[in-house]
Amino acid sequence: MDLSYPNLSETEIKEEILSEVHQWALANGLVMYPPAFSSEQATIVPTTLYPTYLPRSSFEKVVSLQKTYNKLYADISRDSSGGWLTQESIKLAKYDNEFTGKLWELYLKAKKQGIAQKLRLGIFRSDYLIDKRTNEAKQVEFNTISVSFGASSTKVGELHDFLNKAGKYSANSGDRFYQSEIPVSDSTPLLAKGLAIAAESYQGLSERKVVAFIVQDNERNAFDQRTIEFQLLKAHCIKSVRITLGDLHNRTTLDPESKRLFVKKTGEEIAVVYFRAGYSPSEYKSERDWENRLLLETSYAIKAPDILTHLSGTKKIQQLLTDEDILAKFIPDVIVRKQMLSTFVKIYPLDDSALGQEGKKLAFKSPSKFVLKPQREGGGNNVYKQDIPLFLEKLDEKDWSAYILMELIEPNETTENVVVRGNSFFREPIISELGIFGCILFDDTDVHLNEYSGWLLRSKFSGSNEGGVAAGFGCVDSVMLY
Ligand code: ADP
Ligand code: MG
Ligand code: MG
Repeated sequence: MDLSYPNLSETEIKEEILSEVHQWALANGLVMYPPAFSSEQATIVPTTLYPTYLPRSSFEKVVSLQKTYNKLYADISRDSSGGWLTQESIKLAKYDNEFTGKLWELYLKAKKQGIAQKLRLGIFRSDYLIDKRTNEAKQVEFNTISVSFGASSTKVGELHDFLNKAGKYSANSGDRFYQSEIPVSDSTPLLAKGLAIAAESYQGLSERKVVAFIVQDNERNAFDQRTIEFQLLKAHCIKSVRITLGDLHNRTTLDPESKRLFVKKTGEEIAVVYFRAGYSPSEYKSERDWENRLLLETSYAIKAPDILTHLSGTKKIQQLLTDEDILAKFIPDVIVRKQMLSTFVKIYPLDDSALGQEGKKLAFKSPSKFVLKPQREGGGNNVYKQDIPLFLEKLDEKDWSAYILMELIEPNETTENVVVRGNSFFREPIISELGIFGCILFDDTDVHLNEYSGWLLRSKFSGSNEGGVAAGFGCVDSVMLY
């Protein structure tokens, strides 16, 4: 198959295409707040100009695995297999007392007070890079809290589809460049659907139910979230409110008997608490913020996610699951398990175990093959390649257990796509990370919904280690499957 890209000249891009991208993005809300937050100004989300080619078989494989992944993480957070998550969290809490330890402590407090709601909602995203030697998708990480860019993903696909159908990709002739449709991710409707099904499953005292989006102050990516809110109302007649962790006690009331949570101003009942914040220790600015997280955990509202589901998404858990004996406890079916294992690369602990000893050796002997990760989310936390030995040397060896050492995945570079950032554009090699969304609504015994919920492609200059779009390292992209 012909894997060529539209070959617009610099002049065509500058004089025609950039304004097409800008105006489409502004007209359709593919925007974010600029780094210097100002409530009435938005800038366009960095995008590629064209879709990036991905092998269809790898794409379809990870799409088809998503429900299995959803169920796996639901089972982990149910603490099945003899309280495995509990055991591992207790160990990890010791090494990472700043965050994992705090969350664990909070969970214990909530458990003591009583967890009123049995239903829990997982809104997940499993991220992959496609290994260039085998063309297989390999998992970068599995996110169980605050997964973002679902709405932007739908929009960038629509942008590319527009540019193609409007003939902008072949500036001279004005015809379509791609004869086949450019796929558009259904993540906006599917993520909203997951929230809606959870809200509908909530046994409210009245029909006046809302979904509470827990958000950060001055959230730059607010429009990605708002698009899901608009979809919730439009497609499901479900209203939403936006509350920061720090403002929760001012904006809501908790009925001490029923543990039901209400919006103070309107008296509406909060059916679902959807975290688009709270994944990083820096967000808990005071003890009050921790208390507010606890209040949410003990409330009758359905959490997306509850603390155990949040904890099941640590990098440590991901590392442990690469051990087939451990994975087998959750995935007894050998065929499914092998499929899942084929998406893993090697991940080592840096502890006293045999594998940990091996990891420690490799970290110093061949650091260029690895990335070192702490138990943190949100980008910018990892240590790469040659920096690893220096970084470890500065730590006490007993604290190395708070990190995992992961084999670097080497994806193919794409050299013909163009990255658009504001008025600038770059034709530099990029690499792409594919995310697959999934929603699962479950309780201790049953699964009430388990769905694949769309995809996301983010691309970044291949020279940069991290790929955060908001952080300025990356951009949103769409796919052409071959
Ligand atoms: P976070 O939870 O902060 O997003 P990630 O595990 O996704 O942490 O790491 C951040 C980025 O680092 C990824 O988006 C990817 O670009 C890069 N990265 C992480 N793990 C690997 C890996 N094994 N191989 C290559 N790049 C990786
Ligand atoms: Mg993450
Ligand atoms: Mg990530």
